[in-house]
Amino acid sequence: MDADTLLEVNQVGRAFPRPGGSELVVLDDVNLNLGDGEIVGLLGRSGSGKSTLLRIISGLSPATRGQVSYLGRTVDGPAHGIAMVFQSFALFPWLTVLENVQLGLEALALPPKEIRERSLKAIDLIGLDGYESAYPRELSGGMRQRVGFARALVVHPNILLMDEPFSALDVLTAENLRTDFLELWSEGKLPIRGVILVTHNIEEAVLMCDRVLLFSTNPGRIMSEIKIDLRQPRDRQDPAFIAMVDRLYAEMTARRAEAAQRPGRYGSGIGSPLAPVSTNLISGLIEAVAAAPYEGKADLPDLTADLQLEVDELFPVAEALQMLRLAEVEGGDIKLTHMGKLFAEKDTNGRKEIFSRALMTHVALAAHIRRILDERGSHTAPKSRFLDELEDYMTADAAEDTLRAVVAWGRFGELFAYDDENAMFSLENPQ
Ligand code: ADP
Ligand code: MG
Repeated sequence: MDADTLLEVNQVGRAFPRPGGSELVVLDDVNLNLGDGEIVGLLGRSGSGKSTLLRIISGLSPATRGQVSYLGRTVDGPAHGIAMVFQSFALFPWLTVLENVQLGLEALALPPKEIRERSLKAIDLIGLDGYESAYPRELSGGMRQRVGFARALVVHPNILLMDEPFSALDVLTAENLRTDFLELWSEGKLPIRGVILVTHNIEEAVLMCDRVLLFSTNPGRIMSEIKIDLRQPRDRQDPAFIAMVDRLYAEMTARRAEAAQRPGRYGSGIGSPLAPVSTNLISGLIEAVAAAPYEGKADLPDLTADLQLEVDELFPVAEALQMLRLAEVEGGDIKLTHMGKLFAEKDTNGRKEIFSRALMTHVALAAHIRRILDERGSHTAPKSRFLDELEDYMTADAAEDTLRAVVAWGRFGELFAYDDENAMFSLENPQ
């Protein structure tokens, strides 16, 4: 281990037991290190195991395989010197800002005077001077998040783990806090030596990180690493910044396309998880790409900005289009296929026809449900039948999402009907 390595994660894996006795592999062979003075970003979609990895690194949760070493020692329980910042903090409503921050030091058994001084300093540092005796209800969301930062910084951790710390804040508040944080970091005013930042926001990663690790889903794994060698403070309008954002988009979509084409861990059969993307979004995206100025091919960052979507919202739609072969995603661009262009030109009925054919051909679960309904005398089947089947391949949550997706799509394509009240699939009105 290098002298300036703070943290090393070696071949870490994590699996959770499933009700049936099998297990769900969430992390597989994760390797990373954090050097002194670095901010490393972990970029991946929700559910890819990023929070699980941070909990393992901080010693809050064990790895099933591999190990984490912090300053050369194996982490095997809550590690002193590693602190976490969460998306939103549970502040105690009956305690003042100062008291909430002081809680961060409770475990360290310091003299009361030092606890108070250190807490006041952390509050001051993070821009909450004057609010020491305020109660959480008197604070805005941004200020409450600052109290959370103060509570993490007050322990003077060597490593700060940040789990989507800006994502619950509105745009301006988030940018304010990012800028303040980066300024303090660059000026060496923060009592920390390294940061791991989990995010699903590409621009945030480019703004803040020295290196970005791209995380894949199912199981979570690091697919690639990109160095961001732009000087701080960074400017979102700088062409080099924009080029880096483009590159990350391209890299992410390339990796995802690869993963989508690879026969999945569960095969590309009925056990492939689906994201519940609405058919309105699907139609909307196809229309937007078909129209001017894109005329069938669009740059994903441009499209995200135009449609005012978050990357996390756009990717699942783009992925659904890719799975249905209505579009191809490559090198940060999305391009409609022949069928995709045809879809854009048709009226509702024509669209339903194209969609239904795409479902039958490319979405194994939709075809499976339709076949079972066709075969049964009653032409009905309960949701639980398919839910049980899916839970052999994925978590209960993912199975619910997958069924939600296939219900919405099947309804639009008029492949089958679904009655929410009795949780029954049927062939009632289709066609
Ligand atoms: P991310 O932070 O990237 O959104 P998480 O680490 O929260 O992802 O979760 C990754 C996966 O692990 C999810 O499918 C989640 O359902 C599963 N998971 C997380 N914690 C547990 C747990 N304690 N038991 C079972 N499954 C879990
Ligand atoms: Mg998370």
